[in-house]
Order: sequence, then structure tokens, then C-alpha cells
Amino acid sequence: MSGGEAPIIGKDALGRPVKDLSVIPWWGVDRKDIEWYPKINYDKCAGCGLCFVTCGRRVFEWDPDNAKPIVARPYNCMVGCSTCAMLCPCDAIEFPDKAYLRRWVARARVVKKAFEIVDSIMPKNHLSEEEIKSTPEG
Ligand code: SF4
Ligand code: SF4
Repeated sequence: MSGGEAPIIGKDALGRPVKDLSVIPWWGVDRKDIEWYPKINYDKCAGCGLCFVTCGRRVFEWDPDNAKPIVARPYNCMVGCSTCAMLCPCDAIEFPDKAYLRRWVARARVVKKAFEIVDSIMPKNHLSEEEIKSTPEG
């Protein structure tokens, strides 16, 4: 999941290396099956560049003609991340809603898999998957 096994496919407008992270499955699911990536509302975007500069996964590229970012590598986005949307000073970045994400978490059995990993270092010292589902946030 670190991206170390992803091939380098070039450099971005700032000369930073770009990897193709879309080749790395997300909890066993083909990354390209999951429509989780930012969409820019250009009516709101001020072109500050914060999303382009700060996303370490090189999802954005810079469009010099329009002086705005573009979502050039959508499947490089980490499923569940929404940092760029949180940082954007203009609220110009949108993502699918949490319900969409939760459906993939359930389909890919992510919680069960995470439990299995945690159990290897701290056996059963936590809520069960069923108990999580029964909580108000579950
Ligand atoms: S952070 Fe927001 S306002 Fe700034 S360039 Fe990105 S989308 Fe546009
Ligand atoms: S959500 Fe995270 S990984 Fe995805 S584009 Fe924004 S900052 Fe990059």
C-alpha cells in the first residue's frame, strides 16, 4: 500500500516524480473500479495551487493555459482521503459521499481485514465487527 511497487511514469509541472499508483489494488479491489477522486468546481476555484502543490500522490497537474489545476491522475488518489477538499480555501473540491465509501468498505471486507492485522499484534483487545456495526456511527 506504500506505492513503492508502482512504476514511475514521468514528472509533473514542478519536476517532481510521478508514480502510477492506480496499479495498486485497494484492499484487494482494482483501484480503477472505485470512483473515489476529487472533482474541481471551476466556478469556485481561485487557482491558488494548494491542491496541486500539497497532494503527495500527484493526482493534480497544473494547467498553465488556464492557471488552474486539473485532476490528471484520478486513480492515484487514496481511497477515503479528502485532504485537498479540506484544505481548499474556496470549497471547490468535491468527493463522493461517505455512504459510497462505506459500501466499498463493506464490499471489500476492509474492517475484517484490518481486525486480522491488528489481532496479530493485539489479540481481540477491541470491539468486534458486529459491535462496531451496532454503534450509532457504525
Ligand atoms: S486548492 Fe481549491 S482554490 Fe486552490 S487551486 Fe485547488 S481547487 Fe482551486
Ligand atoms: S484526497 Fe488526498 S490523495 Fe486524493 S487528491 Fe486529495 S490530497 Fe491527493
